[in-house]
Order: sequence, then C-alpha cells, then structure tokens
Amino acid sequence: MRCPFCGHMEDKVVDSRHSKGGEAIRRRRECLHCDRRFTTYEHIEEAFPQIVKQAGSLEDYDRQKIRRGIRLACSKRPISLEQIDQVVDRIEEQMLELGLREVSSDWVGSAITTQLRHLDPVAYIRFASVYRGFSDIEEFLQELKAMGRSDAHPEADAPTPPDEEDEG
Ligand SMILES: [Zn+2]
Repeated sequence: MRCPFCGHMEDKVVDSRHSKGGEAIRRRRECLHCDRRFTTYEHIEEAFPQIVKQAGSLEDYDRQKIRRGIRLACSKRPISLEQIDQVVDRIEEQMLELGLREVSSDWVGSAITTQLRHLDPVAYIRFASVYRGFSDIEEFLQELKAMGRSDAHPEADAPTPPDEEDEG
C-alpha cells in the first residue's frame, strides 16, 4: 500500500478487523518510512493471502476447501456445521491477522490442526494423520499421550520446565 503521506510503498499492518457487515477488512497500517499510520479497506476476497503449496505454486484462498477438509475430519462426530464454521472463521481471522500476501499451506494445515485439537480429539487425530501423515503407530500413540496431558490442563499456561543442559 502506498503511504498517503510520503508515498513510500512499504508498511506494516498493526491491526486487522472485519468492518461492519463483515464484507471488508479494515486495516491500520504504519508506514515504514515516515511511521505515520493510515487505514485501508480491502474486500474480503482481496484481503486473503495466496496459499503457497509445498511445490511452491500459488493458489487462491478457498474457504470451501478448508471447510471440506474439516467436515471430513468431523464426520459422524458430535460437531455441528455451526461449530465447523466457527473453526473456519477463527482460522480466517488468524490468517488476516498476519497481514501477509502469501501464506504456506503448511501454516494453514497446522492452524486447522490446532483448532481441531481444541474441538474434538477424534477429528483432530483424523486430520493430523492425513496432514502430518503419521508414519507409524508409535508416533500416533505419542500424539494421543500428549493430548491426554494437555486435556488435563486445557488452558494452563505453565512455563516449560528448564531443560537439562546436555551438550556433547
Ligand atoms: Zn510514509
């Protein structure tokens, strides 16, 4: 975006939010040259980053595609379509929050995994096994164990215990 004050082309996004009605994204930007702030409005379709596939090719963001993947993982689980849409909404919010032109498909995959982890263990495992491609049952069990632990303290923000320094 061109800075309206000095014409510089680079800025950083300091805040992103949906405008009233939700059909546009309102962004506060800060010029990297003169530090002044200005607001832009972008249509939803234009505001979403392009998705960089693993092979390096670019693809338009596709809400339905993400929704399909999540629905598949949630099939026959006690999860409503409304909940699925909420998950997609959260992922979209995070994506827009980044304010980037391009986001990797990996980022999208792990964002979905994180959301499903909070939503439903079975859906999470299903999605993760496709997305991460658990190679063997051992890995799968470890993941289950890790989930058991995090379920015990779902919102715990405990500091990670200091690792024993063991260099050599
Ligand atoms: Zn400027």
